[in-house]
Amino acid sequence: MSALLEVKHITKVFGGGLFSRNRTVALQDFSLTIASEPPTITAVVGESGSGKTTLARMLLGLETPTEGQVLYQGKDLQGLSTAEWHSFRRDVQVVFQDPFEVYNPFYKIDHVLTTPIAKFGLAKSQQEGRALIEEALQSVGLRPENTLGRRPHQLSGGQRQRIMVARALLMRPRLIVADEPVSMIDASLRATILGNLRQLNEEFGISVIYITHDLTTAYQISENIIVMYSGSVAEAGAIDLVVKQPQHPYTQLLIGSVPQPDPDRRWNTEATAASTSAAGASDGCKFFARCPHAMSKCAESTPPLFQTDPHRLAACYLHEESPSLPAEEMASVFVGRGADASPLA
Ligand code: SF4
Repeated sequence: MSALLEVKHITKVFGGGLFSRNRTVALQDFSLTIASEPPTITAVVGESGSGKTTLARMLLGLETPTEGQVLYQGKDLQGLSTAEWHSFRRDVQVVFQDPFEVYNPFYKIDHVLTTPIAKFGLAKSQQEGRALIEEALQSVGLRPENTLGRRPHQLSGGQRQRIMVARALLMRPRLIVADEPVSMIDASLRATILGNLRQLNEEFGISVIYITHDLTTAYQISENIIVMYSGSVAEAGAIDLVVKQPQHPYTQLLIGSVPQPDPDRRWNTEATAASTSAAGASDGCKFFARCPHAMSKCAESTPPLFQTDPHRLAACYLHEESPSLPAEEMASVFVGRGADASPLA
């Protein structure tokens, strides 16, 4: 299994020196391998301040780590040649939260589709380019004749976002990083856009990293989940396991920690905001200040990822009887599509 992208022990610090009040550790010693095959959908879930958006920017090469490396096909992003960077830009596409920001109001929407075709030489002629665009639009359920030639304000938010998904598809990428792609979309259209992403995964073999604060949509679209808390992984694994039987106290808090957790419930924002603001120091468990099960050792050292069953990891000393797994092997517990996609079934 070769790696398309590898995030190796990255830490990202914003702000001043070690003792500065403005210093923020957005991501701490985070590792993740995204394999070339099979194509998967992995949700990275967390509230504001959890580090998920910083991670998205790292994966896209928009942010450099303070420590650690992001590797594309085994090479550090910071050392890619021009040709390798070009290849990276095709292979790893993004769908941002706010589709309107991507459009220039002075251009017809055709512009966002013809530009990558010209930039990356995707077609030999105008006709071939037009055919590619029409195919991409149809793949996300849009009619070219009702879409092309219009200006951004003449389309709905959902249509604009679907054009962004079509734009990503034009490049035939191997990975799409979707950063809160439906958070500004009407609820009625969210399922359509999530369905489009799922379709790209299944029909075109494109992996998706789905960054979200919304556990409900994460559950709808993903096979695996990484729950982030204050820049670190709290729990990760097959989404059925993590959502239906959360093992980390933070995940339990998020899901409500009631006798029958219901994945259809929306994110518990009140509890989450409180817990995030009470994030602990860099030594010890980040969740220490809020944890109802905290022990003295939790304040002394950071818990590693304990593998509590074949498809799940929890960074919590409550599970220290389980073997620990190196952080860079986190993806080895993830499930693929198909037979073993629902370990609870
Ligand atoms: Fe709570 Fe300790 Fe587990 Fe952290 S390591 S979540 S403080 S029990």
